[in-house]
Amino acid sequence: MRRVKTIFSVIASQSRLEILKILNAKGSMSYSELKQQTGFRSKKESGKFAYHLRKLLKQNLIAQNKAEKKYMLTSLGRLVLTAAKQIEEQALIESGRLYVRTSSQKMEEFDPSKITQSLVKEAGVPLEIAQRVASEAESRIYKFQTSFLTASLIRELVNSILIEQGHEQYWRMLTRVGMPVYDVSEILEKAGSSQKAQEDVVYYTAGKVFSEYLIQSRLPPDVADAHLNGEIHIPWTFTWELKPETVVVDFEVVRNMDIGLKLPSLPREDVKDLFKLIYALSREVSSEIYVRNAFENIKDDFLGALKQLSLALPSYLNSPMITLEIEEPDGEVLEAFVKYSLETPIPKVSLALSKNGDLTSRILDGGNPVVLNGDGGATLNGMYYDEKKPLNILLHGVSINLPRMAMESHKDEVYFRAKVAMLLDTIVNALNYRLKSLTMHIRGGLLPSLNSLLEREPPAYMRMSVNMTGLEEAIGLLQPTSKEKVIYKKKVIETVKEHIIEKFDGPVFVSLISDDGGTRLAQLDLEGKGRGRVKIALKDGYSQGYRITLNTTKEMMSEIEELAKVLDGGMNIEVRADMAHFSSTMDKVRAIPHFRLTAKMGVCTRCGWNNPLHIEKCRHCGGPVVATR
Ligand SMILES: [Zn+2]
Repeated sequence: MRRVKTIFSVIASQSRLEILKILNAKGSMSYSELKQQTGFRSKKESGKFAYHLRKLLKQNLIAQNKAEKKYMLTSLGRLVLTAAKQIEEQALIESGRLYVRTSSQKMEEFDPSKITQSLVKEAGVPLEIAQRVASEAESRIYKFQTSFLTASLIRELVNSILIEQGHEQYWRMLTRVGMPVYDVSEILEKAGSSQKAQEDVVYYTAGKVFSEYLIQSRLPPDVADAHLNGEIHIPWTFTWELKPETVVVDFEVVRNMDIGLKLPSLPREDVKDLFKLIYALSREVSSEIYVRNAFENIKDDFLGALKQLSLALPSYLNSPMITLEIEEPDGEVLEAFVKYSLETPIPKVSLALSKNGDLTSRILDGGNPVVLNGDGGATLNGMYYDEKKPLNILLHGVSINLPRMAMESHKDEVYFRAKVAMLLDTIVNALNYRLKSLTMHIRGGLLPSLNSLLEREPPAYMRMSVNMTGLEEAIGLLQPTSKEKVIYKKKVIETVKEHIIEKFDGPVFVSLISDDGGTRLAQLDLEGKGRGRVKIALKDGYSQGYRITLNTTKEMMSEIEELAKVLDGGMNIEVRADMAHFSSTMDKVRAIPHFRLTAKMGVCTRCGWNNPLHIEKCRHCGGPVVATR
């Protein structure tokens, strides 16, 4: 124990303990840096400092790296420091007072007045109520048989007192947003199989916090309640408040605008401006960037351009799709597109083509969906935009749970529409909230490129939409005759249109598009008591648009045509084709105004590359190919 005795005597000095702490916190340091940091400033203190350093060196608590002439903590030094900390903590506990581990990783003596302060500061609780809650919390804390409190434990306690005493509005401001430890561990465990595991883990956990922040603390209470009980669905809560879903941009108009982006080294000259625009916007848009009038600039070596543009996208999960509009592509361009789709693990750049152009089944071979447009334009995700505006910011808005409304209306179609109309006040509150907070974020610098584009003339166009989730299932519940079916669908769309335009001050439209609500709403209805009347395959959830195949009936085809005339916000129409029946499928959909053309494809389970289904071994790595949905 002689060694222990010596070490204790060495660290019995405040100055020497301080040197250990600094080296532990800041890493290795030169003689003069360390001297400066420990507060031995003047020349005459040099001798003292050197003396302390020698003592520590002699006991191997610190060491000197000879090459760099820097001092650092040894393992023994670290052990001694840790022991010193533990002794200090335990001594505090034994003193009988209460200590709190704060969120800034410090220990502080418990002080109930801090509860009062944070109630007033964080949530604007009136002082009198704050003091009452704090003293209740204090008396409960003293009953705990624990010597260690954490700040989050105290917060939980205070929050439960707020709820007990009926102060829900303050609880909404004070509650913590985050995740249970179990959920975080689970995400980490599952992430291993993903290609971009690091980015995805961070993106996903951060997204959870923002979702909870939005629903618990930010949304108007009637909106939050309607979302939670499943009458409506706020889509993509990760980013709903932070970014718009879809942006349509006319490249010719915006290409020379300064969007304040400095990139260190840019790829090919002809792709440069478009690369910059996509780089900037892809960080500010969640679902799709649809670019018009860019093709002329990049058509030489189109394959190279597509690959370059892929590099502009952020690497995290759910980065947006890029859709390039090309009116009349030639065979060479389409060939380059197919090649790009085959040679890129997750191809994120797609095309919007004229549906009357020359197309062959070869376009399906890469498995990358394209949008085919008639007179009016739709984006890949089926949203409509105003062609006269150089920048359209399309907010996918709020989904209505139509089957829920139908279940509660006793097969009475008029009552059903009345119930839907009654929900629109809440939806208008949601739309207003979103418009306000998104505008604030754009002006406030969270979306700098959209901000600089919005400041230009002519002004951009921000439009909202209300999404008719489960239209098919809802009308089914009303048990219409086959003639009534389309009429009922059109009527409920018209009802929403009429009322929403009246109530919402701004451009608002009605759409039938895909978001993440179809499954959630169906799940909630299945779990709800007495609501199991909707027969749905849960993996697909409620319908959000149409999928056309060679087997789709004539009646369905004419229904889609009819609905396309009344839905003015957007419509999700997917056409599933295979190479063998390409031309007959295209003949069948000639009258449909626009659609997303997709192919039945397989994906390699080893490397993630797309492969045509008829191939058993991956064209890239030879791994097993399985069908995608
Ligand atoms: Zn493979």
